[in-house]
Amino acid sequence: MSVTLFRTGIWIIIATLVAYVVRETYVGETLEFLNAELLWNSILLGAAVIGLGVVAWIGGKLMPQRRSKCRICGHVIPRGSVYCRPHLQEKLERARHADLATRRR
Ligand SMILES: [Zn+2]
Repeated sequence: MSVTLFRTGIWIIIATLVAYVVRETYVGETLEFLNAELLWNSILLGAAVIGLGVVAWIGGKLMPQRRSKCRICGHVIPRGSVYCRPHLQEKLERARHADLATRRR
């Protein structure tokens, strides 16, 4: 979430700088809508979105991490895991036996 906000803010600022360069390069009536106020507001919007990204990043760091638990015994396990080590071994052994029992010879 915070990374998305960072990237969005940076892209807004880059697009604003490109618009500024285009406006300064091609001075004409067709680019009247790219006035200084619009560009300045775009820069402020990009900075605000980056600021929101910083706030989201800090909020993510301060939030307590959710712990994973084994689906069978409920012991705390590393994040992203489904089973604790003994139960994972048990599941793998069962799957291996099932595979051996159904294998054609
Ligand atoms: Zn377990």
